[in-house]
Amino acid sequence: MFEVVIGLEVHVQLNTKSKLFCSCPTSFNHKQNTNTCPTCMALPGALPVLNKEVVHKSIMLGTAIDATINKVSIFDRKSYFYPDSPSAYQITQLYTPIVEHGELEIELEDGTKKTIRVNRAHIEADAGKNIHDGDISKVDLNRAGTPLLEIVSEPDMSNEFEVIAYLKKLHSIIRYLDIGDANMQEGSFRVDVNVSIRPKGDKKLYTRVEIKNINSFKFIQKAIQLEVTRQSEAWEDGVYEQEIAQETRLFDQVKVETRSMRGKEEAADYRYFPEPDLLKCVVTDAMMEKYSKIPELPDAKRDRFVKEYKMSEYNAGVITSSVEMAHFFETMMSEQGVTAKTAITWLTVELPSRLSGETNITNSLVNAKKLGFLVKRIDDKTISGKAAKEVLDYLMENDVAIDSVIEKLGLKQVTDMGAIEAICEEIINANPEKVAQYQGGKEKLFGFFVGQVMKASKGSASPQAVNEVLKAKLG
Ligand code: ADP
Ligand code: MG
Ligand code: ZN
Repeated sequence: MFEVVIGLEVHVQLNTKSKLFCSCPTSFNHKQNTNTCPTCMALPGALPVLNKEVVHKSIMLGTAIDATINKVSIFDRKSYFYPDSPSAYQITQLYTPIVEHGELEIELEDGTKKTIRVNRAHIEADAGKNIHDGDISKVDLNRAGTPLLEIVSEPDMSNEFEVIAYLKKLHSIIRYLDIGDANMQEGSFRVDVNVSIRPKGDKKLYTRVEIKNINSFKFIQKAIQLEVTRQSEAWEDGVYEQEIAQETRLFDQVKVETRSMRGKEEAADYRYFPEPDLLKCVVTDAMMEKYSKIPELPDAKRDRFVKEYKMSEYNAGVITSSVEMAHFFETMMSEQGVTAKTAITWLTVELPSRLSGETNITNSLVNAKKLGFLVKRIDDKTISGKAAKEVLDYLMENDVAIDSVIEKLGLKQVTDMGAIEAICEEIINANPEKVAQYQGGKEKLFGFFVGQVMKASKGSASPQAVNEVLKAKLG
């Protein structure tokens, strides 16, 4: 039997204002080649200057994964020719990266924890983009020189499930730290998967295959399955040595297959050498002090939510799964008199069911403050949960004050016992047969009476009060 060995390289685009070595903006959705300058176009004589914001964000990431942050790190030149890289080399950090020896804890399917070691995270510059247009290929250098943090794991993962858990964890840390958008579809969180197999129990590392170009968790799982099958079949057929070579394979999401892209270069092929145009990158004590104070991370927030709000592990997991959701919830809770229980339902069920297309919790007309206030009105019994749904429907389309909507739609809950008793009486008198049946033992009819009273009150009666009054009157 075999075991699977997987290591990941993740390229995270850092969300700095300007590029890594020049002051061009990092937004590359502009007209092609407009966000460029002599440095990122690699014109002769132009010199790079390190963007300190990149160093700050690297310190934050290093702190979040309990890594060593090197006080001095060094940039290297990695030589290769490709049209979207006019310098014919990439500036990266090979021998002395800024971040080393970190770790990430993931949760396995059975609930146990596993630590995945992170070998390092190094700073490097992104390339431009080749745009293929029929017979012609064009080069857009807007992205050239954008800062990347490449986070390299040790080969510690042994199946697709662990890989996805690791990636989700890393993804959410980046979002919580707000150091990158980490959008897989848009390429700001790019994953290369290294896969090998070995006989179970063997400690040696066998030939690894690197799979590139996978832009969703679903396809990452698929690519791993395909590659493991290919390697283990080759082993069983006795052709492992001939067929499994260290190479880079491309995942084709249309044909759902991986195919060889190129033989894997060794470090020597890139003719690495220290970048002569840059000084060493120095992390000062003052920088360390300032940027190692990072915001609360997803795991800590989850544990705190469980304790502080007495919510289930499951709910805490859902709410902290994205930083936007977690902040939304915390803003809702900052409204006096909101209970976590009601807030959770309205945040995880009612609001999402009313969002569609481009609207999400970050751009919805109903923001966290409003939803918090609506929940407060449920919790203080001004309106019933049912009425609140109507109010929310209205608020999704109209930017108005909640109390005025409640007023306007006549949804203010009647908690006045006198009024409720009167309605109950009316319903009981109008249905003598049903009353007799109920009193004769047909208890299911209780729901009928509640329904009638709620209807007669146009949903404004407090259901709790209606229940109490009917119980007393019907006996
Ligand atoms: P390169 O840039 O040449 O791909 P890196 O050191 O940046 O090299 O990345 C190597 C990646 O491959 C790491 O994530 C490492 O954990 C992983 N890896 C190394 N050997 C194996 C192996 N035998 N099987 C699976 N993954 C491996
Ligand atoms: Mg690699
Ligand atoms: Zn530039």
